[in-house]
Formats: sequence, C-alpha cells, structure tokens
Amino acid sequence: MSNVWFITGSQHLYGDETLRQVAEDSKIIAAHLNNKIGAEVICAPTVTTAAEITKVMREANADDNCIGIITWMHTFSPSKMWIDGLKTIAKPILHFSTQFNEALPYDEIDMDFMNLNQSAHGDREHSHIYALMRKSRKEVVGHWQDEEAIDEIRTWVSAAKAFAQGSTLRVCRFGDNMRDVAVTEGNKVTTQAKLGWSVDYYGIGDLVQEINTVTDEEAEKLFEEYKKTYTVVTDDIAAVKEQAKYEIALERFLDKTGCAAFTTNFQDLHGLRQLPGLSAQRLMAKGYGFGAEGDWKTAALTRAMKIMAGNDSTAFMEDYTYNLTKGNEAILGAHMLEVCPTIAEGEIKLDVQPLGIGDREPPARLIFNSKAGKAIAVSLVDLGNRLRIICAEVECINAEKPMPKLPVASAMWKPLPNFKDGVKAWLLSGGAHHSVLSYSLTKEHIIDFARMAGIECVVIDENTNISDFELKLMLGDAAWN
Ligand code: MN
Repeated sequence: MSNVWFITGSQHLYGDETLRQVAEDSKIIAAHLNNKIGAEVICAPTVTTAAEITKVMREANADDNCIGIITWMHTFSPSKMWIDGLKTIAKPILHFSTQFNEALPYDEIDMDFMNLNQSAHGDREHSHIYALMRKSRKEVVGHWQDEEAIDEIRTWVSAAKAFAQGSTLRVCRFGDNMRDVAVTEGNKVTTQAKLGWSVDYYGIGDLVQEINTVTDEEAEKLFEEYKKTYTVVTDDIAAVKEQAKYEIALERFLDKTGCAAFTTNFQDLHGLRQLPGLSAQRLMAKGYGFGAEGDWKTAALTRAMKIMAGNDSTAFMEDYTYNLTKGNEAILGAHMLEVCPTIAEGEIKLDVQPLGIGDREPPARLIFNSKAGKAIAVSLVDLGNRLRIICAEVECINAEKPMPKLPVASAMWKPLPNFKDGVKAWLLSGGAHHSVLSYSLTKEHIIDFARMAGIECVVIDENTNISDFELKLMLGDAAWN
C-alpha cells in the first residue's frame, strides 16, 4: 500500500519536555490524517539535527511504497539543517502549514505556549529554504482537522500515486502514430525521462496471434456477460463475438507484457477484421489507459488519470463537432468508437455499425450518452523542447435533443469561462483533439501532478482572460526554454 512520511521538524533549543510534546502531537496529527488522505501515514521521529534530517530523507527515498513526504514545523527548525536533506529527497513534497491548537488560548497564552506552538514562525523559515533551493512542493495551509485542508492533501496523494506508478507504467503501441498527424507525436525518450512512462512498439501481428488462441467458448462466455450488462441492439452477433475475442486477447497480451495502457491505429490493422472498439472500451472500463491513432501520450495520461480517480468517471475523449447556435454553444466530444463507459449515463447499447473510415468490417461498439456535471478536459502535448499539460474546466451538459443516428458514445460540454474564450485558450495553448475527460478529478489534481513531474501546466477556468492567458503562454515559453 502507498504511504506518505510525516516528518516533523524541530531543534534542541526548547528542551526535552517540548520535544516530547512535539512528538506526541505529531503522532496525533499523523494518525488523524492516516484515515483520511488515501495513503498510510507513517509518522517519522521528530528531526532536530541536519544528520537526522538527511537520514530520514534517505530512508523515505529507499521506501518503495513511499509516494511523498509531508513536512510540518511544530516549532522553529532552522533551515540550514535541511539543506542536505532537501538535496537528497527525491519524492514529492507537501509542506503542511498547520498548528496543533486551532484557536489561540487568549486567557492562557504565555511564552511557553508560544515556543511550543510556533508553526507560523517555523513555516516561514522552512519554506524559505524550499524557495531558495527552487524545491517544488505543495503548500497546504489550515488546521489539520479542517476538511478543506485534508481535501487538498488527499488530492496531492492521488496525484502522487499516479506519479509514483509512472516509473512502472508501460504503454503498448500496436502500430505507429496515424500518418501525417502532428499532435499525437512526441519524443518518447524525453517523456520517459520526465514521467517514467515507457512506450514500446508491438506488431499488430503479435496481437493477432494472441487472438487466434482465444476459443469460441471463451468468446461465448464473455458475450453472455455483455448481454447482462448492455442492451444488445444488433443482430450481428458474430461481429460482437469477434470483439469479445479481441478483449480477451488484448487483456492477456497487456498483462503478459506488463502494459497498463495501449494504442491502436485504424491504418494498421493487418490481420484484424475490425478496429478494436467495444474491446478498447471494455478495457478502459477496467482501468487500462487507451489512445487512438497511436496516441501514446493520451493513452498513458488516461491511465495516470484513472489511477488518480480510482477509475471513476474518467475517459479517453476527442473534441469532434461544435454546436455554434448563439447562447447554446457547446462541444460534442466522441470518437470513432473508443469512449470509456465509466462516464456513461443511462442505457448503454451494444451495436455493430460501419466505421466510415478505413477498410475493415463494421466494428462492435458501446453507444451511450455521458453525464451532466463539472469535469476537466486534459491534454498532454510535446512542444519540441518540453511537454505541456493543458487542463480545462468544463461543464458537461445533456444534449438538447437525442441524436438517434449517432452510432458512437458521446459527451457534450461547455468550456469555461465561456465558449469562445475557452476554445480560444485551448487552441492558443496547442491542446490536442484527444484529451482525457474526468468528472471525478479537479484542476488541482493536474496541477499537483505536473508540479511533481516538473512539466508546464496551463489551466483554463472561469478566471481565464485571453490577453492574460497569451502573456502566460509567452512567459512559459521563456521560463521553460
Ligand atoms: Mn482520434
């Protein structure tokens, strides 16, 4: 299980009694957070010297389950003592600016109390050294029992889990990127250096070989599960069973190769009768990452965001078509086939329809509408010299009318701050047509994740102003060069 080390800083100036109290209070806070932030909280012994600080940082680094450290200053802990430790620590950092007592004890307060409870004082010394050493960290401010503060920590923990799993995330690319397309490309080596994702090619023939080992009985059994889960509206049961074989084979292949994400490309389907549609949707629902047209960045990002979200309401998505009627402007998101049913609302139909692109047989797919509500759309692009994450807050809506002839799953949303500026900002920042849409995550998850990875993150939200946004992009170009 993932854990977070809770490290309390102090010094020997205040005497043993104070240090005993500091240790006791630290344990209480760590135990309180332990039940609430989504990871085990390990309360480290209070650190009071440079040697102790360096030692605890080395131990945290060496703990494979440690996804990050939380530092807390109960008292004043001189920051020159922290320099070597902060050079050493390789895990994400959260500085919790909190205090054991919530209210000032106006009637009782004296200098003993002040010396024991000086978070405000110690925090400034502590964060100064982060700032001086350019150590990125999340700053969380508030009482340790405050739900808002705990929520911020929980968000950081979710992002840290996804970041930690990045170093073992393998993406299986069946085929290459779609010919001539720019935004799905990128440098796989520099991306691995930043995010840990290893992205490897496998021939589609390797998958075909795996499909050939799946028996009709296995496909039949999975089809029975489909019948229980979805409304089967097609008569072409053979085509559905063909996709059932793809699902079984894909899952086996991914598990065998240790891959938790994959890509396909409709231009590279040699030996397959259909484009994997239903099968890709089913695997995403199980938590695998996916990117179409060879889009390995979005495949890995889908997996990372599914980790953050506990696989709740998070899907591979594509900006497809606009509604441009005044006052009702919206984006219709869909894909040729592969939208993850974790965002579905209402009935999910299983159908077989022609694809309209490529030269294969009509593929089986799930067709559904998506939920209304707040969501984020996230895109990861390679700008040549760096990666950029674009995170847009959006409002998903129910379509005004049904779209009975639309043969794919879809979602509809209005970008923030308004349609025009939201779309403009996305375009100005070079955001892709592929994205990951999540109802369960917030922009803070993405900001935390990008900070851990040391990559640029631009946010488009209700406060976005286009001229400020353009300036931000310009400054980003200078800063990230
Ligand atoms: Mn696409």
